[in-house]
Amino acid sequence: MKYQIITFGCQMNKNDSQRISAMLQKLKFSPASEINEADLVVINVCSVRQSAVDRAIAISQKLKVKSQNHNSKVKTVITGCILKKDKERFQRIANAVLDVLNIKNLPQILKDLGFQIKETKIKNYLKVAPKYDKNPVAYVPIMTGCNNFCAYCVVPYTRGPERSRPPQDILCEVKNWLKQEVKEIWLLGQNVNSYKFKLKTQNSCSQGRRAKLKTTTQKSKLIDFAKLLKMVNDLPGDFWIKFTSSHPKNLTDELIETMAKCKKVTPYINLPVQTGDDEILKRMNRPYTVAHYKKLVKKLRNAFKKYRKGLEKEIAISTDIIVGFPGEKRKHFENTKKLFKEIGFFMAYIAKYSPRPGTSAYHLKDDVLPQEKDKREKELTEIVKKTAFEFNKKFVGKVVDVLVLKKKKGFYFGKTRHYQTIKFPASKKNLIGQFVKVKVTKARDFGLEGTQ
Ligand code: SF4
Repeated sequence: MKYQIITFGCQMNKNDSQRISAMLQKLKFSPASEINEADLVVINVCSVRQSAVDRAIAISQKLKVKSQNHNSKVKTVITGCILKKDKERFQRIANAVLDVLNIKNLPQILKDLGFQIKETKIKNYLKVAPKYDKNPVAYVPIMTGCNNFCAYCVVPYTRGPERSRPPQDILCEVKNWLKQEVKEIWLLGQNVNSYKFKLKTQNSCSQGRRAKLKTTTQKSKLIDFAKLLKMVNDLPGDFWIKFTSSHPKNLTDELIETMAKCKKVTPYINLPVQTGDDEILKRMNRPYTVAHYKKLVKKLRNAFKKYRKGLEKEIAISTDIIVGFPGEKRKHFENTKKLFKEIGFFMAYIAKYSPRPGTSAYHLKDDVLPQEKDKREKELTEIVKKTAFEFNKKFVGKVVDVLVLKKKKGFYFGKTRHYQTIKFPASKKNLIGQFVKVKVTKARDFGLEGTQ
């Protein structure tokens, strides 16, 4: 029995696919080298953008037509972040549809579809160890779901409320990755900053040496994201820690200080601001102000200056932004441009607003014209190009630590601790998956060049 998984969307979906892969291999499936060879195709969809949903539908339709015309036995299962309104559509073209929260039912579903497997009971899919794919970077979910209901976002509807994983499970997973020579750990969650887990601790206490009475008291200790970060940082080994995504409303002073003090945490943060205008923030249901965001950036910069040395004194800040949210007039957008110039982001993930059914913004008029959204996207890209270049220029002539990720056309490509992409001439030695020192020779808009 051969399988193939097609994944859309974020790192969380990619990590889910690694777990599905591990589940399938436990059920005696083996990976197919191409889709035509597969008896089972699992499509892990993402509902954040309509384009990903449309592509998933097109692939399933193709597979359906193929199975009808060629009498092929390929079965398609669709999972992932699925919106209610898409579910029926998916059900018409796939053999089975199950949302990510029910992935534990996959063995039973496969049995029902006629696969010869011994049923495996899985309580929680996060307990399934993900499949190692020789990548030096591993993604470890620490929580899933979201309670924030930002007006444009489907995640609270598809992944449900926030649930944090026990810290023991997270540490165990990180240790397993490190044993497999993983060099960078990304802690994942829709909002990692609101990670919370009540850890039960047992205290046994005998009073006096000869006391016959032994009392056991149960206490609980609250582990928040700052504590978890420190616990991961304290694990032995030479590795880097990054995390995503961070909500500005939950970025506490304690967390900022912990980040700066924990040396395995690299000097990089993605802090989504989404818009640089308070009125639009309110409409987006993002409960902070631009002034608060600026304060956070200042605190982050000060903390890294205080606790780090050399290049590490400067933290790289990237952001997520939506242009053309309903009601975003030119004057609001100008505030976003102003914020971009002020902060000097080193990278920005710019999305053009598109209405998603089921979200509260879906009922607002999508009143910014597509050509205006394109224009705003370009204007912001131009600003980020300049600020990123300014940031990268500071690294020219310096030696940086690089995690080598791939080799292409005579060059190695890797990431620095600040999350810059760096390119340098490849040697005969295989350096992929290793930390190396590289001297930066040139800064580009979105990257660096160097030599060993
Ligand atoms: S914080 Fe907002 S944007 Fe992020 S997952 Fe939750 S609802 Fe979506």
